[in-house]
Amino acid sequence: MLLFDEMLKKLCRWFRILGVDSAYAKGLSDREIEEWARREGRVIITKDKELGKRPNAVFLESEEIASQIAEVIKKTGVKVAFPNRTRCPLCNRALVEKGEKRWECPNCGKEYWVGSHWKNITKVYEQVRKTLKITP
Ligand SMILES: [Zn+2]
Repeated sequence: MLLFDEMLKKLCRWFRILGVDSAYAKGLSDREIEEWARREGRVIITKDKELGKRPNAVFLESEEIASQIAEVIKKTGVKVAFPNRTRCPLCNRALVEKGEKRWECPNCGKEYWVGSHWKNITKVYEQVRKTLKITP
């Protein structure tokens, strides 16, 4: 389980799509972020050097999205499961399959389906797998 700092909203959404329970810390102090992570057993992912020094934190060095995803997977050991365990990128709830290549979020009601956006996700995910040398 991960906890992303304020600067990493996009990356947080990515990990939800990839099936990892991911929270997003908005407007919190470093101490509050650390407490939240400890309470729920989350690893903090941050671009902040100070926060990154905490024992339960990972300082993110990469800049480009596919490299960032690969770096987080490598450093935390989280298991990604796309698309079978995809979570809602907006609220982190696990999606429910609603039919042929369609999913719905039981929390916020947003619907997802296989479209051009999905192809882009698959493309980035392929890049990640290549970086990590994961065989299908
Ligand atoms: Zn949702």
